[in-house]
Order: sequence, then C-alpha cells, then structure tokens
Amino acid sequence: MTDISHDLSVRESFARDASGLWRVPDAVARPSSAEEVAALLRGAHRDGTAVTAAGSQTSTTGASICDRGLVLSLRALQGIGAVNHETRTVEVEPGVLLGDLQRALAADGMFFPPDPTSDQECTVGGAIACNASGPRTLRYGATRAHVEAVTVALADGRLERFRRPHLEKNTVGLHIAQDAVDWFVGSEGILGVIVSAELRLQPRPAHEIGLAIPFPTEAQALACIIAARESRVVSPRCLEYFDAECLAMARDARGEPTWALTAGAMVYTEETTVGDDEPPLEAWLELADAFGADTDDIRVFDGESAIFEARRLRHAVPATMHERVAPYLKTGGRRISTDWAVPYRLAPQAVAMARAYAHEAGVTPGVVYGHLGNGHPHQNFVARTADEVALFERVVERTLRDVIAMGGTVAAEHGIGKLKARWLPLQMGSTQIAVMRALKHELDPKGILAPGNVLA
Ligand SMILES: Cc1cc2nc3c(=O)[nH]c(=O)nc-3n(C[C@H](O)[C@H](O)[C@H](O)COP(=O)(O)OP(=O)(O)OC[C@H]3O[C@@H](n4cnc5c(N)ncnc54)[C@H](O)[C@@H]3O)c2cc1C
Repeated sequence: MTDISHDLSVRESFARDASGLWRVPDAVARPSSAEEVAALLRGAHRDGTAVTAAGSQTSTTGASICDRGLVLSLRALQGIGAVNHETRTVEVEPGVLLGDLQRALAADGMFFPPDPTSDQECTVGGAIACNASGPRTLRYGATRAHVEAVTVALADGRLERFRRPHLEKNTVGLHIAQDAVDWFVGSEGILGVIVSAELRLQPRPAHEIGLAIPFPTEAQALACIIAARESRVVSPRCLEYFDAECLAMARDARGEPTWALTAGAMVYTEETTVGDDEPPLEAWLELADAFGADTDDIRVFDGESAIFEARRLRHAVPATMHERVAPYLKTGGRRISTDWAVPYRLAPQAVAMARAYAHEAGVTPGVVYGHLGNGHPHQNFVARTADEVALFERVVERTLRDVIAMGGTVAAEHGIGKLKARWLPLQMGSTQIAVMRALKHELDPKGILAPGNVLA
C-alpha cells in the first residue's frame, strides 16, 4: 500500500527545490515499486489529479515542485541490477543516487559517464528526466547518450518498455517516432514517470589526472580552453572555467589561502589513459605556458581519490552561491543561475556581452564559471528581493536573445522547468512547440503530469 501523506510538515518538506521557488503540494506519495507508481497514476488519471515526479529535488528550475495535486517521490525505488559485462549495461531504478550508482559500479570496474556536479545528491530518474550533463560531457555527451531503454508508467497507469533500436539504416516512419527513448530523456516529468532504466556503461580508465591551471587573465584562460579543445596533442575529458571570484571559492574549499592569489581566472581539466599509457602532462604544461598560465601555481590531482577531491573545488561554486542567497529566500530573493550556451568559439564574446548587459543595467555581473569547453558558462546572480529578481531576469533575457542569434541555446543543462518556460519561444518556433504539445496530449491527454513544466 503506497504511503500518501497530507500532513503539512511532510508537504512542506517537498515544497522547495534548488530554484528558490516554494510550492506546497496537496499530498506527497512515496511508492516503493513500479506497480505502486502505475496504480497511483491510474487513480490520478481517473480523478484528474496532477502528479509531479520528484527525485532528490535538486532541480534549479522548479521542475520537481507543484502547488497542486501529488508530488510523487521516487526515492524508495532503489534497485540496482547486476552489471551485464557483455552488453556493458545495468538496469537501475530511478531513486538511486548517481553517486551511489557509481560506487556500486566501481566494484565491477565500470562507470556511468554523466557527471552533473550534483551527482552525490541527485537521482538516476532525475538525471534522465533532465538529460543531466556535467564537466565530462565534453568527452562523453549528456545523459541521453547513455540510456539504452526505459520502463515508463504512462499517465493512465500503463507500464510500457521503450528500447532504442540499433539499426544502421532505417527509413521507417518519421524520425521523431523512431526512437521513443528520446521522448522521455529530458522530458522533465511531463510525458511519463520513469520507473526503471537500462544504462550504458564504460570501463573505468586505467589512470586519470586533473590539472587546475591559474591564468593572469580571463582572456588567456578562455583562449587556452579553445586551443585545448582543438588540440591534437592533449585530449581533455573536461575543460572547466572559473572566474576570479570562483577561483577564490575553490581556494577556500581547498583550504590553501595563498594559492594563485594574483590569478584572474582558472581552467580545470582532466585527462585519462588506457593500458600503460602516461597522461599527457608535459603537453598540458607546454600548452598552458604558451597561453601565459601561472605555471608555478598549477595543481595536479593524480588518481581517482585526488580527482574526487578536485570535484569539491568545482562543487564549492554552486554551493557557495546557494549559501549566499539563502538569507534572501524569505524576502522574495533567489539565485539566478543561467545555463545558456553558444558554439564554443563564441564563448569569450558571449561572456563579455553578458557582463556588459549587466553593467549597463547597473547591476553586478555575477560570477561566471562552468563548461566553457562546451561554450557553456553559468552566470550566477544573487537577487535579494523580488524586484532584483525581475531586474536580473531582464538582463538575462537580453543576453538570451543574443545567445540565440549566435546559434546558442537558452538552457544547455538545467532544463526549462517552470522558471524558464517563458523563454522557450525565444529558441523554438511555433510549429516545434505545437509538435511537442501534440506529443504531450497523446501521452497525457488530461494534462496531469508535471503541470507548469516546459509547456506552461
Ligand atoms: C548544487 C547543484 C549543482 C548542479 N549541477 C548540475 C550539473 O552539473 N548538471 C546538470 O545537468 N544539473 C545540475 N544540477 C541540477 C540538478 O541537480 C539535475 O538536473 C539533476 O539531474 C536533477 O535530479 P533530481 O533527482 O534532483 O531530480 P528532481 O529535481 O527531483 O526532478 C527534476 C525533474 O525530473 C523529473 N523527474 C524526477 N524523477 C523522475 C522520474 N523517475 N520520472 C520522470 N520524471 C522524473 C521531475 O518531475 C522534474 O521535472 C545541479 C543542481 C544543484 C543544486
């Protein structure tokens, strides 16, 4: 029997995610099996009750919260199957934390490539539903590339399995219908509830190193990132950028107060090897030197546990911004975190433009960090009041219009959720949006799933 609570304190504990929004649902359901999820949906479909799936609620866009109907927590679905070494796949239930999955897979010498910074907190179901990505997306691609099959509880409670076809040639039907797995990856809970997924794995590398490379200026750091991406000598798994303020946060997290004090920016990269090969450390030092890096201040993270430590530096940035905004959540403030992206060569120009628009509006331009190897920075502002939220959002919207003109996207990583729904038409034409609405209507004719997400 599914645990369904109407208790206010339980409902309030599911009312906030990392967006800063606050939405108290009518009830919280905590099923512990796919069959329970299906039965809940059958009832909700019959009654027209809204159902919003939730993993760990680390969404930055309000996607996992709702002020009507049920929040359906998938956290109790915790199964991890045996690794199939022949197909390099594993079947996993949606409530498993990504970090726990990686620890379980390590015993088999395998890993699941997606690495959102929130990997120790977020669930497999949430990562699939958001098509989560991370620093190593530069090499491996986002979650979509690593999902082989999904079992979905559809809005009317039917359980259906969808598997990717592996056809080298195929001319049957329209492309959007040829691989239904793609409907659900990145669907933000609006098409169905994922109750199980077959994930594609990779063998763990023999050796991995990370390099934190400070530079005197942002221009040098960004130029080095572009050169590294285009290099035939280095082969980075990630190319992450920290502006001066983010470098200060990383310095604090590292507990090394005098590290790279004069640097204006930092690049973090990782290299891996197979077999007995050595990582191209010398090639990296030469490349960094050619772009004027502060080579004496380079820090090397050698091996898996050192790299795990290095990830703490990266995590320190969103975590610190989260702390900075916490006192203002009750006064209508929140963190404004962009995840727009442009073709990577245009990133330096786009970052400069985003800062200029903030200056012109008379606000501080926020911190800039993230996946510049993919042309994908995060610009984070701390808005202290609702008025400041509106002001920062005007600045962001102005930036987004130029990002689209540069061939970019309004949301490369965190999805649309509720917060960014109004920016969808900046990027997608009315015909594309109508096709998405038609698919939504076909799979969820009563519109009960995750109302307000994506297609508000
Ligand atoms: C500090 C921090 C760092 C972050 N870093 C990254 C990052 O590097 N990369 C990145 O991509 N994101 C990042 N995020 C955003 C977020 O962590 C990811 O999108 C994550 O994948 C969400 O997982 P979750 O379990 O918290 O899902 P939730 O927040 O609970 O839900 C997210 C969406 O998925 C839907 N959903 C959840 N489970 C299911 C399911 N089983 N079936 C159908 N729909 C479902 C929900 O309805 C909602 O629409 C970050 C967030 C924080 C707070």
